[in-house]
Amino acid sequence: MSSDRPRVRRIGVMGGTFDPIHNGHLVAASEVAYRCRLDEVIFVPTGQPWQKMTGDAENGTAPRSVSPAEDRYLMTVIATASNPRFSVSRVDIEREGATYTVDTLRDLRAVLPDAQLYFITGADALESILSWQHWEELFALAKFVGVSRPGYELHAEHLADHLKTLPADTLQTLEIPALAISSTDCRERAATGRPVWYLVPDGVVQYIAKRRLYRARASRGVSAP
Ligand code: ATP
Ligand code: MG
Repeated sequence: MSSDRPRVRRIGVMGGTFDPIHNGHLVAASEVAYRCRLDEVIFVPTGQPWQKMTGDAENGTAPRSVSPAEDRYLMTVIATASNPRFSVSRVDIEREGATYTVDTLRDLRAVLPDAQLYFITGADALESILSWQHWEELFALAKFVGVSRPGYELHAEHLADHLKTLPADTLQTLEIPALAISSTDCRERAATGRPVWYLVPDGVVQYIAKRRLYRARASRGVSAP
């Protein structure tokens, strides 16, 4: 008698603004896929990211508008195309309004009812996702994997008591190879004509140049990458 049951598919979910997607995102997804034995990682570019529309009051910087969703989506497709285990979902960009992780996970759960989802997030985002959303519901929809990121502390101690009652892998934290890359820095580089080669995949360098993304208004029309 065979006790073989089909193995539950393990799917990583990497949410982000991806404005632009960079090698830090790709290394995080690749490393978590290996360490957590994931069958696939789905990258999910956000819709309207309200956190990023508010500007930075502390630094006195003006609110920044995020690049069009189609550009962020296409850069994510270009960056992930060569990896057979990576794919890109449009669930967040097709939903009206702000993106909340809980909606992302509900929508993916609806199309992947039999899979175990693993939501992958960097150290900076982990803390905020679990503090301003209902983590009970989030943990019911997916397991969470927090990855290290240079310049940020990786911790979720405030959840320790609650986590004791949940399976051990409900929230795990992983040290991954450190890449001190951010989309903010890539945008600033592109805006001032500094190189983004090797910070983002080659195809994304070309896409940024072709679509003239991140140029200061006055310098739009200059075409060097
Ligand atoms: P921005 O500077 O615009 O905030 P970002 O580089 O933080 O961009 P996001 O799209 O905000 O990129 O991040 C998506 C996810 O990837 C988040 O969970 C974030 O913590 C994680 N992440 C981004 N960069 C890195 C990195 N270098 N190492 C590990 N995780 C990262
Ligand atoms: Mg960020």
